[in-house]
Amino acid sequence: MSADASLPDVHGGLVDALPTTAELDEGRLTALGGVSIDTLAERFGTPLWLLDHATLVGRMRAYREAFTDASVVYAAKALCIRGVLELVDDEGLYLDCASGGELATAEAAGFPMQRVVLHGNNKSLQELRDAARLGVGRVVVDSFAEFRRLEQVADETGHTFDVQLRVTPGVDAHTHDFVATGHDDSKFGFTLSRGLAHQAAERAVDSNAVVLRGAHCHVGSQVFGMDAFTAAAEVMVGFLADVRTQHAQVLEELNLGGGLGVVERPSDDPPALEDYAGAVRRAVADAADRHGLPAPHLLVEPGRSVVGPAGVTVYRVGTIKEIPSLRTYVAVDGGMSDNPRYALYGAMHQFVPAGSRPVEGELRPVTVVGKHCESGDVLGEGVPLPSGLGEDDLLAAAGTGAYHHSMASNYNRLGRPAVVLVGDGRATVLSRRETPEDLLAREASLR
Ligand SMILES: *Cc1c(COP(=O)(O)O)cnc(C)c1O
Repeated sequence: MSADASLPDVHGGLVDALPTTAELDEGRLTALGGVSIDTLAERFGTPLWLLDHATLVGRMRAYREAFTDASVVYAAKALCIRGVLELVDDEGLYLDCASGGELATAEAAGFPMQRVVLHGNNKSLQELRDAARLGVGRVVVDSFAEFRRLEQVADETGHTFDVQLRVTPGVDAHTHDFVATGHDDSKFGFTLSRGLAHQAAERAVDSNAVVLRGAHCHVGSQVFGMDAFTAAAEVMVGFLADVRTQHAQVLEELNLGGGLGVVERPSDDPPALEDYAGAVRRAVADAADRHGLPAPHLLVEPGRSVVGPAGVTVYRVGTIKEIPSLRTYVAVDGGMSDNPRYALYGAMHQFVPAGSRPVEGELRPVTVVGKHCESGDVLGEGVPLPSGLGEDDLLAAAGTGAYHHSMASNYNRLGRPAVVLVGDGRATVLSRRETPEDLLAREASLR
């Protein structure tokens, strides 16, 4: 992503991590989407998830332009709320859903079901019945058990499923173990190196419940090295060639999943979208050429790299605890309930003071923590913040659009923050803040 030249780079990479409409003044984030951060914090409270409309739609359009002759499938799990799925529909993207809940959100958004791809390593019968009823465009089959379930639903309903096979290509994406999915030992897909993918192709060809349209793989998430994507592309085209040889079927679709990384830590240096698109398309075309196959129709499934850069979380600073010659803790009014990603796999975002009040002082490294009853409730370590940052100041985390709202919890009975879309000087609530009454509404009394 190119940084707006008018923005000062307060600490390395921060500008790359902030949405395009971010306005900075002396190292503070003062406005987003033309709305002042003070106003937003006052109107909607903190913590607050902001989504920058221009960045969000800009990322969708950039993907469509980079992949003109391919299908861009937004991975709903990164941020699955109705208003966002409506924008995804408006921009003509496809949608990857991985549960009945995500399908129901797509349905509520009026998303055209022919453009929906259904994923999941353990889809229930009910989810497959939903897929049949709604006319979901593609189901990505993940296991032999799923073939049995698909056949049961086909028997019940007379529906035939258009499917892609999820293949585990044995490619190491050099990312955290918990977000890597393409290596042989994975709960996802049919492992190629053990012959399971070939057995699955045979199973699909023999089944009356499914029409085999193509193959799918997803090597991991927050991936920066292009070689993982191009290696996977080559392996997958090889698989398509095997299917043609063994079953005299030319599969027309190759779905290479998502996973392109974005700037989270200052040192993150993701490839440009055009370079990623170019490399993947070339790898597929070259491999198809070598195998004498027609180039398959390509699908990509970005989640993080669509919504991540559009998001900013605004917190209010509370207790600041200085342990002499050890560490300074800056506690904010949220924490692992709105962002469990540091606790889960060490993910870390960049922080910047926010709002109109000037914050003086030298930058010094602090540990930003939440307000939860857990020592692991950390949002960032070694975070450079001005020594003058004090109680009641606003603090913003950059690049938090993906896997924050969707992974949030009510730990310690904190209500989930509001999601507010900002653009052209206006703020629109996409999801209001959760209240204690919302939480209590689902509970029964024993009295
Ligand atoms: C998670 C996932 C994606 C999206 O991954 P990002 O890293 O957010 O781009 C796409 N496809 C599948 C199958 C996934 O599991």
